[in-house]
Amino acid sequence: METIKCDLTIIGAGMAGMAATLFAANRGLSVAQVGSASEIGLASGLFDLLGIHPMIEGKRWDNPWAALEALARDVPKHPCAQIPPKDFQEAFDELLDFLEEAGLPYSRNPNRNVSIITPLGTVKTTYCTPWTMWEGVKALEQIRPCLIVEFKGLKGFSAGLMAENLKNRWPGLRTKRIPFPGAGQKEEVLPEQMANALVLTGNRVKLAQLIKPEINGAQCVGLPAVLGLYQSSKVVSDLTELIGVPVFEIPTTPPSIPGLRLKEAFERGLRQKRPFYYSQKRVIEVQQGRGGEFEIGIDSQNGRQTINSPGVLLATGRFIGGGLAADRKRIRETIFGLPVFQPQSRGEWHRENFFDRQGHPINRAGVEIDAQFRPISEQGLPLFHNLFAAGSILAHQDWKREKCGTGLAVATAFGAVKAFLEIAKRDN
Ligand SMILES: Cc1cc2nc3c(=O)[nH]c(=O)nc-3n(C[C@H](O)[C@H](O)[C@H](O)COP(=O)(O)OP(=O)(O)OC[C@H]3O[C@@H](n4cnc5c(N)ncnc54)[C@H](O)[C@@H]3O)c2cc1C
Repeated sequence: METIKCDLTIIGAGMAGMAATLFAANRGLSVAQVGSASEIGLASGLFDLLGIHPMIEGKRWDNPWAALEALARDVPKHPCAQIPPKDFQEAFDELLDFLEEAGLPYSRNPNRNVSIITPLGTVKTTYCTPWTMWEGVKALEQIRPCLIVEFKGLKGFSAGLMAENLKNRWPGLRTKRIPFPGAGQKEEVLPEQMANALVLTGNRVKLAQLIKPEINGAQCVGLPAVLGLYQSSKVVSDLTELIGVPVFEIPTTPPSIPGLRLKEAFERGLRQKRPFYYSQKRVIEVQQGRGGEFEIGIDSQNGRQTINSPGVLLATGRFIGGGLAADRKRIRETIFGLPVFQPQSRGEWHRENFFDRQGHPINRAGVEIDAQFRPISEQGLPLFHNLFAAGSILAHQDWKREKCGTGLAVATAFGAVKAFLEIAKRDN
């Protein structure tokens, strides 16, 4: 049995846990992080801030900061409403700088949401996109004549379906189906294999040779987001040069290469900043000593590992992440057994219509917090002096419908780390 000591233990390695680790390490805290980063690998790679509010009206906002103001007015308990806009901006700036340094640049208009096409041919509101997708945002805005290319054997990406569904919004779309270089007559080609193949210059040249004769007046080319597992910006720049018109990526369904790039960029960029990282491990119990310090037990093949730290930041997500679990009657928080804000009975978890614009009450279930991001009791009091929570585990939000997944994760991580620092300063 091995014990380590640090200032703050972050439980969770999804977007909230990774962002919290970055913010804490950048402020000089020694951090231990536990969790699996695999959820990030499923994500589209887009960063939403806040796109839709109120949900029932489905109102889309061009200005995410104005949307946040309206949200704070209408839903004061929403976790995104707990962060001053200045902190929200600082959090995004810090994250984007970090990713750029880690070789994964993102693009945005700082004060404007943008629209991006999805593999279903719908249009999604988001805030930042990987740099490799940005040309597609501009092309949609300007309705430029565009060629969308699909690959034989790549499942879940149909250029024809996209063009059909987008024909009113983007009339100049043409499509082409081509074999992926080197895939021969294979029935199925996998995104990871394609992304790996395109790391090699020779495969980029072969791909450009297949696309170039099809241009016929198109001013840009959209391809599924498989353009390099690493160095995607270089792959897109090279293809742009070889084909002669701007090339952009279109998000795909999971498993997502932009999600894997994000996971890899976090792992690489945080390596030097985070002294202790227990990847693919789970916290199995947490106890608090008399002095208030937490003792965090982790399952490990080599026996039990223990972390001692004065603070814990809970970023364990919802049902997929494992932070919340539901039995036949109730929803519970899985590590501390914290109270979970939820409907009175299971019968109220879902509305009858799956597409009901009000969303389902179960999606707003979660842990409630005070102004310092500390989980609270039913009486509204913090349950632990130094336990903080961030990300999708928090109550009173529906990130998927409100299009605020990354905004929620990143801003609450920032708020929780800031609160830990303020309380630690006060205690000393
Ligand atoms: C399919 C998909 C599409 C997405 N698309 C978008 C999008 O278009 N735009 C956008 O902004 N965001 C998108 N997201 C990302 C989404 O914003 C984030 O996943 C969401 O904000 C939740 O992040 P989180 O860190 O709170 O939770 P999660 O990502 O669920 O992470 C929870 C973490 O907690 C860990 N954990 C749980 N229990 C334990 C335990 N006992 N011990 C140790 N670790 C534990 C898990 O291993 C995991 O690392 C998408 C996500 C998915 C899955």
